[in-house]
Amino acid sequence: MKCPDCGGQTVPFPVPEASRSLVPGQESGAALCRHCLSLHPAEDPPAEPPAFRRVSPAFPSESDAAVPMALVVGLLANLALYRSEISDLLERVERAGTDHRRWISRAAGASSNSSSDPETTRQLAGVTPDATLS
Ligand SMILES: [Zn+2]
Repeated sequence: MKCPDCGGQTVPFPVPEASRSLVPGQESGAALCRHCLSLHPAEDPPAEPPAFRRVSPAFPSESDAAVPMALVVGLLANLALYRSEISDLLERVERAGTDHRRWISRAAGASSNSSSDPETTRQLAGVTPDATLS
């Protein structure tokens, strides 16, 4: 599907049962835009998680870490709204064995070399699990 925000290509993926309450909408899947990194509900996601390295080579290759990470990337645009969901998802990423702090700095570095939205890059670079909103 095309991104409703920018018309870019999206990467649809199934959202595991345990994470469904953390994402907007009732759909069983979500789609991450490869261009603007926005997250959209996907009605008919593939059965298996896709290769998120198509979005960014910085994504973890294990889907246990890559799926929650993709959800985090999509929810970051609404950090104030989804702060607790994001922190839950980051815990899942960590439990899957990926150091998300290192991942976020790699992802920010990788996307600064591409055509992605600078605002998203700033958000990726600025978010840490200890971040407090004032
Ligand atoms: Zn987009």
